Amino acid sequence: MLSFACGHCGHLVFFENTVCLNCSTPQGFVPERLELVALEGPAAAGLHRCANATLAACNWMVGEQGRLCRSCELTRTRPNDDDPVGLAEFAATEGAKRRAVFQLLDLGLPGVHPGELGFDLLASEQEPVSTGHADGVITIDLAESDAARREQRRAELGEPYRTLLGHLRHELGHYFQPLLVTGDAEWARCRELFGDERGDYGQALERHYSQGPPSDWQQRHVSAYATMHPWEDWAETFAHYLHIRDTLQTAAEYGVTVRGPRAVTTDRSLKATPQPEAGERGFSEVLDNWLPLTYALNAVNRSMGRDDLYPFTLAPAVIEKLEYVHAHVHAAAIPSEQAPAASRLQASG
Ligand SMILES: [Zn+2]
Ligand SMILES: [Zn+2]
Ligand SMILES: [Zn+2]
Repeated sequence: MLSFACGHCGHLVFFENTVCLNCSTPQGFVPERLELVALEGPAAAGLHRCANATLAACNWMVGEQGRLCRSCELTRTRPNDDDPVGLAEFAATEGAKRRAVFQLLDLGLPGVHPGELGFDLLASEQEPVSTGHADGVITIDLAESDAARREQRRAELGEPYRTLLGHLRHELGHYFQPLLVTGDAEWARCRELFGDERGDYGQALERHYSQGPPSDWQQRHVSAYATMHPWEDWAETFAHYLHIRDTLQTAAEYGVTVRGPRAVTTDRSLKATPQPEAGERGFSEVLDNWLPLTYALNAVNRSMGRDDLYPFTLAPAVIEKLEYVHAHVHAAAIPSEQAPAASRLQASG
């Protein structure tokens, strides 16, 4: 995530802010500029709050009164107005979705428009809901926005990591796979890395839940769930790639560098200087910054009595898959949509 400064007083403001906590100037996020804007004077001319500002606690801006923003307009279905629990879960889920959509816009990925990509945000208390993706429509079980229920499911399934943002990025992985991998040659390479996705999905699902993952899954997969089917391997890897890019961007924005633990300061592999625009560089450079940063952040989390921030290991086969995703995300980026972010980074040095 980028960092933002209040346009009125220069104080640090966050992606989710609707107001500067220092000077009380209202703030709104303008997706076309990828900027949080102080809503005063010429900078705010022609900007209006998203029509879901209250319902979805949305701080994104639109150019025309009464319209939905670039994130909210992607949602096709939400809980009814007479379902207060569902609506609270909906607002929390839209918050995670705005982060996910921000990153897609920042990366310049294509296909982030209504009619191509849609979300059904459904409450499983009202009807059975399975989180998933089909033909550009991502279904999210709103119960996953409830921390207690999500933690219960995480423990039941023995997962080291389960978040709403993670679900969204995983399902977006399914959506983007056929957009990023095109042509017979590319699909052949994709199958070499991830396996043949034409294998029976129902059988794979049954096998996964009756037998569990192979014992050596960490040698080839980023998560146990990724072993289930090549589609899931791609989606897990894609989500993981977005985690890495977002976290490195945040570290770069805050000037976080790792100079190596005091005990081992001579080992270069324990040092990191995350830079903006990591996508312009090769994946090996991304990884060189990523791994030392995760060691440091995991140690910090343990100091607070928390689980590791990054409870994963990356085997060479997994790194190869991440590199493949990296190359395809970069190749698919639409230059015009990247332009605002690139100029902004230059302007801020
Ligand atoms: Zn301010
Ligand atoms: Zn909105
Ligand atoms: Zn999936």
